[in-house]
Amino acid sequence: MPKFFVNERPDAETVLIGENARHIGRSLRMRAGEELTLCYQGTDYFGVIKGFTADTVTCEIRYSAPSESEPSLYLTLFQAVPKGDKLEFVVQKAVELGASRIVPVLTARCVSRPSPSDFEKKRQRLQKIAEQAAKQSGRGIIPEISGIVTIEQAAEQLSACQCPVICYEKGGEPMDKTGIEKASTAGLLVGSEGGFEPQEVELCISKGAKAVSLGKRILRCETAPVAALSIMMHLSGNM
Ligand code: SAH
Repeated sequence: MPKFFVNERPDAETVLIGENARHIGRSLRMRAGEELTLCYQGTDYFGVIKGFTADTVTCEIRYSAPSESEPSLYLTLFQAVPKGDKLEFVVQKAVELGASRIVPVLTARCVSRPSPSDFEKKRQRLQKIAEQAAKQSGRGIIPEISGIVTIEQAAEQLSACQCPVICYEKGGEPMDKTGIEKASTAGLLVGSEGGFEPQEVELCISKGAKAVSLGKRILRCETAPVAALSIMMHLSGNM
């Protein structure tokens, strides 16, 4: 059943406008009587199309239920900004794998160092990619892509999570020693191509994060979040 994210809680009778209405009417050529799901903040609203005007679609909502595809773990991925368009790949995969929020981080060894204003354009494109990945993978929310933060801000935000993890290429504990199974919020920090400065790792550890190893092979900065997220979702019973 096609699924559409909406910005307001659907009523018994909901009128869709804008992009959703165009998508339903023109791209998908849906007809009155066809079923659809409206998704609002992790709840699915199941309904049927009642009618169309030139630029609106009216739906009758029959029942709602929490979105089954949402993981029980609220995981924030803190990703040191990689080169080129690798962040687009990371965002897409992280959303598919169940991350709830993605925070780009500027670390000492980031080669790509966009200014906040340059990054804002990129952020909007990344948010669009997150939305497409959320739709494609059947998520109940569109994960938010935040603005760039410093490593100090990332360490602070990481420490607010029940299970804060920094993936360190020079070694750490295995993921199953982090207590992730019992956590409802987790933070995952991954470095860029150049990895982390030892002080950056120490800072995160001093704030309560655990250094985690993903094994003896060095993974690329776009492979590491995919591997780590998969393990965390699996250990927390979400995969
Ligand atoms: N240039 C560095 C590697 C950076 S890999 C070097 O040659 O040592 C990019 C990021 O992926 C790392 O900062 C880390 O967060 C993560 N990563 C890659 N392989 C890892 C591993 N085996 N264990 C833990 N983290 C890893």
